[in-house]
Amino acid sequence: MDDLKFGTRDKRGNWRPNDKIENAPVFVWPWSLGTFLRWLPNYFLPWNVFFFAVSALFWFVLTPSKETLLSLNWGWVLFLLARNSAIILLFYGALELRLYMQKRQGTRFKYNGKFPAENPSDVFMFKSQAIDNIIRTFGTGLPIWTAYEVLLLWSWANGWGPWSNFTAHPVWLICFGLVLPILHEFHFYCIHRLIHIPILYKWIHSVHHNSINPSPWSSLSMHPAEQLLYWSGSLIHLLVPSHPLLVLYHLNLAGTGAVVGHIGFDKIEAGKDTAVDTHAQAHYLHHKYFEVNYADGMMPLDRWMGTWHDGTAESDKIMKERFRKKREKLKASNKTPSP
Ligand SMILES: [Zn+2]
Ligand SMILES: [Zn+2]
Repeated sequence: MDDLKFGTRDKRGNWRPNDKIENAPVFVWPWSLGTFLRWLPNYFLPWNVFFFAVSALFWFVLTPSKETLLSLNWGWVLFLLARNSAIILLFYGALELRLYMQKRQGTRFKYNGKFPAENPSDVFMFKSQAIDNIIRTFGTGLPIWTAYEVLLLWSWANGWGPWSNFTAHPVWLICFGLVLPILHEFHFYCIHRLIHIPILYKWIHSVHHNSINPSPWSSLSMHPAEQLLYWSGSLIHLLVPSHPLLVLYHLNLAGTGAVVGHIGFDKIEAGKDTAVDTHAQAHYLHHKYFEVNYADGMMPLDRWMGTWHDGTAESDKIMKERFRKKREKLKASNKTPSP
């Protein structure tokens, strides 16, 4: 496909789409039914339907029986860890293989003209972004994700919490399931803003930001403290009526779903004239500029808080002006003699 029909490439080889990123129209006033209906399929496709399908497969086929979950034992805990690790290995691995190792579409639709492997750096274990990211993902990310899942499934089996089922409360559970991606983004925004506080950034979040030019393996490459916060949104299932299928969907939105912002390509080519939109740009810009787009772009939280970047040159200008003012303020406060 000719990516220059959809965007422009600068001298450095970085590609930028023509279309600006839009927030979901449900959050934009005044409401327009037409815009809402045009947007609605994007809420489900391709990602959320895929993450739900993975969760349904996990729940109906790859989760031990309620009797087994009643008591903690290493057998089923390790089984869940292996099953979660397998989906990450298969899914992230397939994207990484196709786009970053085989480079099947070269740099077409790639935001950053370079591939991470071209820049070995001392900030990474073994100087390799991919190896460092993989060690952090499987070393601490997957165990922490699985620990939340074990806690929630064990609580469900023992009846601790306001658990329900689709026969008793079908409308509530369906509505809860439909808004889970929004709840996940809101929770992510809150913890993400928190770990950008300088001291927390230095000790915790800088690990994730080492990958300035992210690839799928960067998605869950975080300090363990960030991973603990990241999946903590799933604890809501102990507070409101829920069902284990929704627990798995929520954990998958965070776990498998983290890849969405880290693909590095705006579209994945699927044929000569077809491609899948990734919606990766908002979080890509966060990795590039650090202090924009703390949410993923569906909710207008950054727009409300003055940190929104919609991918356009106009947003670049606004951002640079904001950074300049911040630097000046910092300089002025450093000059002021302390009392
Ligand atoms: Zn990220
Ligand atoms: Zn960040």
